[in-house]
Amino acid sequence: MHAVLQVLAFAWASPYTLLGASIGLVGLCTGGRVRRRGRIVEFYGGAVKWFITHLPSGQFTLAMTLGHTVLGQSDASLDIAREHEMVHVRQYERWGVLFGPAYLLASLGVWMRGGRAYRDNPFEREAYDEAGGD
Ligand SMILES: [Zn+2]
Repeated sequence: MHAVLQVLAFAWASPYTLLGASIGLVGLCTGGRVRRRGRIVEFYGGAVKWFITHLPSGQFTLAMTLGHTVLGQSDASLDIAREHEMVHVRQYERWGVLFGPAYLLASLGVWMRGGRAYRDNPFEREAYDEAGGD
C-alpha cells in the first residue's frame, strides 16, 4: 500500500486500535504477552484471554481484531486465526470508524432475515471466503 494511504488507514482505524491496545495493556499487566507482526500488534494471554473467552460467541472464539490490533486466547490461536483476522484488518482500513456500526448493522439485518448473526454477516463471510478458519 502507498505510504500516504497507509498512514491514512492507520488514522482512520485508530479509535479501534486504541481500544484494542488498552485491552492489550490490561493483558500485559495480568501475565499476557505482546508481539508485532508487520503492521499489526498481537496481544494474547492474561486478561486478553479472559476477554476473548467471555465474548457472546464464547470460548470457541480464537481471536478478535480491533483496528491494527489482534487479541487472541494464546499465541497458537493467533497463528490459526491470522489469515482470517488480516481480512478484518483490511476491512477496518476500508471502513475506519464506521466499521463497528456497519458490522453491527449487518449482523442485525442478517438476524432479522432469519440468518446467523455472526456466520452470515457479510464481513465474516468475506473473511471466511478469503481465509477459511475462524
Ligand atoms: Zn471474523
